[in-house]
Amino acid sequence: MTPPGGEFPAGSPAREPSEAGPPVGGPARLTVLSGPSAVGKGTVMAAVRYRHPEVWVSVSCTTRAPRPGEFEGVQYHFVSPPDFDQMVADGAFLEWAEYAGNRYGTPRQPVLDKLAAGVPAVLEIELQGARQIKHLMPEAQFVFLAPPSWTELERRLIGRGTEPIDVRWARLDQAKVELDAEDEFDVTIVNDEVGRAADELVELIRSPRPTTRKLT
Ligand code: 5GP
Repeated sequence: MTPPGGEFPAGSPAREPSEAGPPVGGPARLTVLSGPSAVGKGTVMAAVRYRHPEVWVSVSCTTRAPRPGEFEGVQYHFVSPPDFDQMVADGAFLEWAEYAGNRYGTPRQPVLDKLAAGVPAVLEIELQGARQIKHLMPEAQFVFLAPPSWTELERRLIGRGTEPIDVRWARLDQAKVELDAEDEFDVTIVNDEVGRAADELVELIRSPRPTTRKLT
C-alpha cells in the first residue's frame, strides 16, 4: 500500500502538458471530492494535478496557518480572519465552513468562470461545504474518499505530526461524523493506493453523466 503523502506530496507541480495523460474531454462539470480529515484528499488531488494538469482544481481560502511545505496560492490562499469575514460579507465564496477551529471557503468566481469556459473543475472540501454545493448545484458530482478502514484512518490522523494532539482528537471526532455521511455521495473511492484512487477520480471527472456506483 502506498501511504498518502508518499508518492505525490501535496503541492507537486503539474507536469508539462506534453507529458500529460489523455485530455479530459466532454462537457464541463463540477466534481466535489470530500471525505474525512487525513483520508488523503490532498494527496490524491496532488496526484490528479500531476497526471492530468488539464483538470482545474479550485484553491480555497483558509484562516489556518500554513503547514511546513505549504505555499500561498498552491495548497491554499492563507487569509486573516478579518479578510475572510470581508470575503463572506462580499459574497465572494461559493461555500464556506468552519472546521476544527479554522474557516475554509471556495472562491466563487474562478469556479463559475472555469465551468462557463468548458473546463472540468474540482473542489476538495469537507462535508458542510459539500452539502452547501449540493443545495446550490445539485447537478454536480459528489465523490466520497474513504479510508481502507477506521483503524487505518485513526493511525493516519493521530500519527500525523502536523497539528497539536488536541486538534488531532477533534479531527478524529469530526471524521466519525464525516464517515457517517458517505451515503449522501454519488460515488465512493477507497484510498488504499493513491495512484489508483487518482485514476478513478479522473475517470469520474471525465464521465459525462452522473453515476451512482461504488468503486473499491
Ligand atoms: P486541512 O486543514 O487539513 O487542509 O483541511 C481541513 C478540511 O477542510 C479538509 O477536510 C479539507 O478538505 C477542507 N477544506 C479545504 N478547503 C475547503 C473549502 O474551501 N471549503 C470547505 N468547506 N472545506 C474545505
